[in-house]
Amino acid sequence: MSLLARARPELAAFKPYASARRSGFDARIRLDANESPWDLREEGVDVDAGLNRYPSPQPSQLRARLAAVYGTDPARLWIGRGSDEAIDLLLRAFCRAGRDNVVAFAPTFGMYRIGAALQGADYRALALDADDDFVLAPEKLLALCDDDTKLVIVCSPNNPSGTLYHGRLIEELATKLAGRALLLVDEAYVEFAGVQSASALIERHANIGVLRTLSKAHALAGERIGSLIAREDIIELIGRIAAPYPLPTLSVRAALAALDANTLIRTQARIDILIDERERVARTLALSPFVRKVWPSAANFLLVRFDDSRAAFERLLAAGILVRDFSTQAGLANCLRITIGKPDENDALLAALAGDVR
Ligand SMILES: *Cc1c(COP(=O)(O)O)cnc(C)c1O
Repeated sequence: MSLLARARPELAAFKPYASARRSGFDARIRLDANESPWDLREEGVDVDAGLNRYPSPQPSQLRARLAAVYGTDPARLWIGRGSDEAIDLLLRAFCRAGRDNVVAFAPTFGMYRIGAALQGADYRALALDADDDFVLAPEKLLALCDDDTKLVIVCSPNNPSGTLYHGRLIEELATKLAGRALLLVDEAYVEFAGVQSASALIERHANIGVLRTLSKAHALAGERIGSLIAREDIIELIGRIAAPYPLPTLSVRAALAALDANTLIRTQARIDILIDERERVARTLALSPFVRKVWPSAANFLLVRFDDSRAAFERLLAAGILVRDFSTQAGLANCLRITIGKPDENDALLAALAGDVR
């Protein structure tokens, strides 16, 4: 069953802005978009060529490449300004303000709550237990859902805990939510997890959506390129309500460069280094007398509980190292989230925490 019946009803007849680049026409002389006819590159300015023209709303070459890398069909992939834009548009597409709700767990990525609040959707979060390694019981998450639940969000690996939720758990949630809500699996860090993406499940479950991004493993946070992978009907709906030109020309070029076969091989080598470093830092921190717990992580960061996170944070800052303080979040007292850096950066972190501040 299509999930479109659960989208905001007024969007069924919603017509997108008819931009010039959506018309489907192309010609040698383009006088259809009120662009400047002068390419600044040809005018001697040190910028990329072709920037006088609006970009394609969804460049077919990048769409095809991302689909190939993610193992999906281009018709099931929408590219946005980072996955943040896809989260925002899904909330807008499905949630009636003041009526519908979104279900997730805590702790997790803060943008879900903010996006829901901006759309006027109620946000319900199941508190996971840090002492129980943030284990997720599907029936408890489902117990928060009702007839007005439109989105259920599972971040896996989860930010900030690093916990992986996948396989049978995702399938069980998707089955129980079939025809009712979109199960959105945010896989911003899945490249570090060594598991198959949940997008492989979309063939069997029409209500699964998956978020992927070039911001983390692909080292392109500054380019703002993220993808939503979902059934064609959902992709079509998001395309209709999106901004006319979400993707800057320069970002599209950089993304294509980052996804060529040779670069992908080197990206994988860096991912492998990062995973080794994550395990090394985790092992070393676990031996520190100042550390109470290091949670297992499937991402490129570690959640660490210190005896005194404030002292640790300040010791690191004094050594010129910035980490993220989570100690004020419910259930995360004395916790810091530490992104894994290059080997020498991780050495500096471990040395600073050992009290060896230079
Ligand atoms: C970093 C991150 C993203 C990536 O967002 P972009 O907008 O693609 O940069 C998405 N989800 C989570 C949980 C993240 O931590």
